[in-house]
Order: sequence, then C-alpha cells, then structure tokens
Amino acid sequence: MELLKFLESKDQKSIKFLQQTKDNHIIETGYYDLDEEIICISCQIGCSMGCIFCVTAESIDSLQADQAFFRNLTAQEIEDQIKNVFSFLKKEGRLKGKKILLSYMGMGEPLLNYENVVESIKNLAKIFPNSRATISTLGTRPDLMKKLSEEDINLALKLHFSLHAPNDKLRKKILPSAQPIKLGLEALKSFAEIKKAPMKVNYILIKDLNDSSENALELAKLIKPYPFIVKLSSLNGNCSGLEPSKISKFDLFEKILHSHEIETCRFISKGTDIKAGCGQLRRHFYQK
Ligand code: SF4
Repeated sequence: MELLKFLESKDQKSIKFLQQTKDNHIIETGYYDLDEEIICISCQIGCSMGCIFCVTAESIDSLQADQAFFRNLTAQEIEDQIKNVFSFLKKEGRLKGKKILLSYMGMGEPLLNYENVVESIKNLAKIFPNSRATISTLGTRPDLMKKLSEEDINLALKLHFSLHAPNDKLRKKILPSAQPIKLGLEALKSFAEIKKAPMKVNYILIKDLNDSSENALELAKLIKPYPFIVKLSSLNGNCSGLEPSKISKFDLFEKILHSHEIETCRFISKGTDIKAGCGQLRRHFYQK
C-alpha cells in the first residue's frame, strides 16, 4: 500500500489520503483532528451496497460502468493504510498524542469483509494501545454483528448501525441492500448488552426525503424500546440530486427524540472543502 496523494482542509483539521494497492486500485483514508485523532478506514475497494448518498457506491468511470465493487482489502492492507497515515503525520510533526479512534466507516461494508476487519483490529490494538474502534454497518449481516460481540478484541469496540430511515420502505429507497430494520436493531441490542455499553444508530438527514416531523416521530417510536443514542448526521454534499437538510431539521429531530427520552448527538460533516465524503476524492482522482 503506497500513499499517493493527500488533501488538507482549510481549517487543517481534516486530511484525506489516497492510497494505492499493489494491484493499482485506489482507496481513501481520512484523518480528523477532533477531540480524538480519528482515522476513517476503508475495508473494501469500492462497495456493492448501493447507498444512494454515497459516491463509493457508484462506478468510477465509463470503462467500468457497472462495477462499483472490486475486492476486499486484506488485513495487511487495512493495517498498512493506517500505518502510512501515522508515518506521514509523524514525519510532518503533526501527531497530537490524543486518544485514537479507529473508525471503520470509509469505503466498503465492514461486515462483508469480516475476517480481515477483525484480524486488522486485533493487530492494530497491539500497535495503538491508546485507541478505541467503531465499526459502522448497514446491518447486512446481523449474525456477524452477534459474532463480533464475542471476539477477543483487546480494545473498546463499538458498533454503529446505519439506519437513515424510520421504516423499511423508505430505508430500501435510501439503502437498496438493507435488511429489515428490526433484525439490525435486535442484533445491535445484543451487542450493547454483551459489551455493556451504549451503541449508536446513525441517521443522515436528507432534505425532503427523510427529514419531516412525521419521519422524526416514527423514528422516536422505533427507537424508544432500545437503549441507543441516535446520531444525527449531515449529508456530505455532492451526492447525485440529494441535498443536506437545514440545521433547523436537526433541531426538530432533537426536539421530538428528546421528548421521547431518546439521547442524541450531532455530526456535521468535516472536510467538505476536500471532498471528504466517502469515495468523493477517489472519484475526482479517476476523473482527472
Ligand atoms: S455508505 Fe458505506 S455501505 Fe453504503 S455504499 Fe457507501 S461505502 Fe458502501
């Protein structure tokens, strides 16, 4: 894995890296200097899930018009992409010494590359003892969500469930490969019980698609029986025909969820000036 190119946001808080595999594929890795130093890790080359807001789900050029997924990354490749980023930051004197968050929410659905993702976390836990990890999943494999909770992993591991809609019909429009919501929520509940830690459900607010007060109310009723935190996230621009919701919609969702005693947090996309949304910089590189 070779570090090919990087792009830094104006506020110097976000850096997006393009890295090249030995067989000449390009993947992305993100670095965000926030309360923690966050590494956003890719685990597949492309992705087959087809989420409508995600550039990784699109083919990268007209020659490969129907191909959005190429292959899984090996455990070694996953580890190398992180080691490359840390070597770069160290050489530049940019490491902050904060706690590290290894976030598996870059290119790919981690649970479709389960063995390599788990092996990489186990190995990274030895290299970065001052770290924790999160895996974001569409819930495509509820059985593996359960298996993950039983893995002997030597760092704090959390699972984030990408929900993005309060019912299966709307969710299928946004995430065409999604499994029924209930399967994902129940698997996340088991994970939370075994780990004895609160887990998050991620909900990207998309203008006029899933951001109405009816959507918020349906979401509140869906989540109410579960001990989850709802993470309300902004859409990271440039997604074909979709627009981010206004901040007032975040306020609306929070008001309705809080009235049902559901805890929330907000995540507003970082690095929009460096195409930091998943797959955007890679696509730009291929197009050039
Ligand atoms: S959001 Fe994640 S799972 Fe969905 S297409 Fe993009 S990379 Fe794949």
